Amino acid sequence: MTGQEIHVRNPRSGLVDYHFTPANQTHIENACHRLRAAQEAWQDNGLENRIATLRAFAKGLTDNRKILVEALVQDTGRLGLSLLEVDSIAPAIERWITIATEATPSTQGTSTALPFISYTIEKRPYALVGVISPWNFPLTLSLIDAIPALLAGAAVILKPSEITPRFAAPLRQIIANIPGLSALLTIVDGDGVTGQALVDQVDVICFTGSVSTGRKVGEQATRNFSVAFLELGGKDPAIVLANADVDRATTAILRGAIINSGQACQSIERIYIAREIYDEFVQKIITKARDIRLNTPNIHSGHLGPIISEQQARIIENQIEDARDKGATIHTGGQLENHGGLWCAPTVITGLTDEMRIMTEETFGPLLPVIAFNTIDDAITMANDSDFGLSASVFAATAAEAIAIGQQIEAGAISINDAALTSLMYEAEKNSFKLSGMGASRMGPSGYTRFFRKQSLMTNQAKVFTMDQFDEINAVTP
Ligand code: NAD
Repeated sequence: MTGQEIHVRNPRSGLVDYHFTPANQTHIENACHRLRAAQEAWQDNGLENRIATLRAFAKGLTDNRKILVEALVQDTGRLGLSLLEVDSIAPAIERWITIATEATPSTQGTSTALPFISYTIEKRPYALVGVISPWNFPLTLSLIDAIPALLAGAAVILKPSEITPRFAAPLRQIIANIPGLSALLTIVDGDGVTGQALVDQVDVICFTGSVSTGRKVGEQATRNFSVAFLELGGKDPAIVLANADVDRATTAILRGAIINSGQACQSIERIYIAREIYDEFVQKIITKARDIRLNTPNIHSGHLGPIISEQQARIIENQIEDARDKGATIHTGGQLENHGGLWCAPTVITGLTDEMRIMTEETFGPLLPVIAFNTIDDAITMANDSDFGLSASVFAATAAEAIAIGQQIEAGAISINDAALTSLMYEAEKNSFKLSGMGASRMGPSGYTRFFRKQSLMTNQAKVFTMDQFDEINAVTP
C-alpha cells in the first residue's frame, strides 16, 4: 500500500479541489484492534445503552446538518438530495431502534426426540463489521448498514468512496462528540486498496458497489470465511401493459429512470411497452423528458445534478454512441454537456437491438431505452434476459394484474404501478437476485438480525449417555 495522496474532482466545476491521504494497512489494523477491544463492553452494556448512544448520534447529525450538507454538496454537486440524505438518518435510527426493540434476543425449546434435553438459542453479534460504500448516495449508503450493526452490538469500520470523500470529516467530527460512539464507529479514508485491506480485518463485510468489485470482495471474504453482504448493480426493467394508465406510467418511469441523474442502483434502465400503446407512450415520455431542466449554473434551480464520477460519465457517453452507431434513434438529450462538470439530459432512445451495450450493461445515467412488446410472455422473457436482478416495475390497469406479472420477474423488489419504490421505503425485506447481490436482506427486520450469529446452549437434565449404550453388541441386525 503506497499511501499516495488521492486527488478528488468536484462534480460541478470539474476541477480537482480536494486531496487526502488514504489509510494504510497498519492504520487499518490498529483501528480494527481498537474497535475489537471496545466492542465487548458495547455488547455487554446492553441494547438500552446502545439506543441512547444512537439517539445522541441522531441529535448530533440534526444539530450539525449544515456542515454535513455542505460537504455532501461538494461531493455530489446536488443540494436537495444532500439535504434528504442528512435528514433521513434520524428517522432511520428510530426505525432500526423499533426493529431492535421488537427482536427476540433468545428463544427456548426442548428436544422432541430426547425431552430431557432443553435448549436456549442466543443471538451473539459479530464483533466487527466493515462497511464499504459507493459515491452515488455517500451518506445514506455509509450508514444504512452501520446503524443496525451498531445497534446489534457490533463495532463498525467504514470506508466511503474515494470519489465522494469530503463528508467523512464532518461526520467524524459529529461522531467524536458523542460519548462512547467514536470507540465503536471509525471512518477510514481510502480507495480500493484501502477497501481490500479492510476486508481482511472484519468478521462481516457490507459492500455496496459494482458487480466487478463486489465479486472481488466476496471472493476475498470467502477466503477468510467471513460473511459478505453484497449490494450491487442493476439493469431494472419496467413493463407497461396495454391497459395501463399511460400518463401515470410515463411520469413514474421518467422519475424512476432519471432521479439523481440516473445514478441510483434501482434506476429504470429498460422500458418494455405493449405495442398498442407504444407510440402514445413514446410521445408522452419525450414531452415530459423535454420539461426536465439541468441543475446548472444555479444549484437552486433545475431537476438534474451533474454526473458525479467522470468515469461514469464516459460510460454513459459510450453507451449513447454505441446505440447511435448501431442504428438507434435518440429523441432527447443524447450527449454529455460540459458546464465545468458533466451533465446529461434525459435521453429517450428507440430502435434498440440486443447487440447494443445499453441493453445489457448497467448505465447509471439518465437514459431511457424504450422497446415495444407483442405479448406479455415476450415482455417477461425480455425483462428476465439480464445478468442483473435487483428490481423492476410493472404497470397495468389493476394492481392484481401487475402483481401476477411481477411474480414472474427474476428480481428482488417489484414496484407495482410505480417505479423504484425501494428508494422511498425500507420496511419491505428483499434479496438481490442473480448478479445484483448476495446475502440476507438489508431492508426490514432482516437488516438487523443478519448481524447476529446463533449460539445454542443445550442442557441435559437426565443421566448422560454412556459408551456402553453404543457397544455394537447391542445392535440388532434387522
Ligand atoms: P465500485 O465498485 O467502483 O466502488 C465501491 C466501493 O468499493 C468504493 O468505496 C471503492 O473504493 C471500493 N473498492 C474498490 N475496489 C475495492 C476492492 N478491491 N476491495 C474493497 N473495496 C474496493 O462502485 P461505485 O462506482 O462506487 O458505485 C456504483 C455501483 O454501485 C453501481 O454498480 C451501482 O449499481 C452500485 N450500487 C448498488 C446499490 C445497491 O443497494 N444494490 C446501491 C448503490 C449503488
